[in-house]
Amino acid sequence: MSILYQTLDRLVAVSLPNRCYLCQQPLHQGQGLCETCCTDGQLGAVCLHCHKPLAQTPPHRCGHCLSRKRWRPVISAFDYHQPAGRCAALIKTQHQWGLIAPMVDRLQQRILFYHAQGVIGWPQALVSVPMHRRRLQQQGFNHAHLIAQALSQRLGVPHAFTLATKVKATRPQHRLSGRERRQNLCGAYGIEANSGMSQVALVDDIITTGTTLAMLAASLGKQGIAVSQYWTLASAIQRVSR
Ligand SMILES: [Zn+2]
Ligand SMILES: [Zn+2]
Repeated sequence: MSILYQTLDRLVAVSLPNRCYLCQQPLHQGQGLCETCCTDGQLGAVCLHCHKPLAQTPPHRCGHCLSRKRWRPVISAFDYHQPAGRCAALIKTQHQWGLIAPMVDRLQQRILFYHAQGVIGWPQALVSVPMHRRRLQQQGFNHAHLIAQALSQRLGVPHAFTLATKVKATRPQHRLSGRERRQNLCGAYGIEANSGMSQVALVDDIITTGTTLAMLAASLGKQGIAVSQYWTLASAIQRVSR
């Protein structure tokens, strides 16, 4: 089959309701991804700091990360290096909103699992990574906001969508070094004063270096709001020291 026909086939398949985005098999309910594709792309047992695979749990951290005194659990549902994990990026880049529900469902299951294990506490609210208004005008929606909204509905945790705003337009992060990433985001976030919040979870689509989440957490921390954990659909985590 030529690339053109493969592309057309994919476009037709995804435009039809109730088909899996990856394998195009009919779905009995909902849209987006089938159970098999979701399961194939799920993260297994991993260290909750560096996402290195673990042979057995608990503990939910690898030998290297276990000695860390200051750390935040990173709960992600999918491995970004697998096809289902890469779907997390398509919500933003291709406006594939049908992928939100099945991916958020898996993240919800994972959050509930770690909570039941006593590994994570329950946040007072969810905070999605905000977008600068100029970028929001270009894109038309904030993907992290949509993900947090869907999680909020499922878990019954409020989505504090006005708590953090992006007050500085920044360069895309992906080509920058660690230091440049931090400089780029310095002073980028504004936090609502006197919000009454004390402990929240941050929500985004994908975690890579974690710099964006750490910089937002630092801005919230200056207002006395602790970030207890990060929740993302997919993980391509790269810790400097593994
Ligand atoms: Zn499928
Ligand atoms: Zn680790």
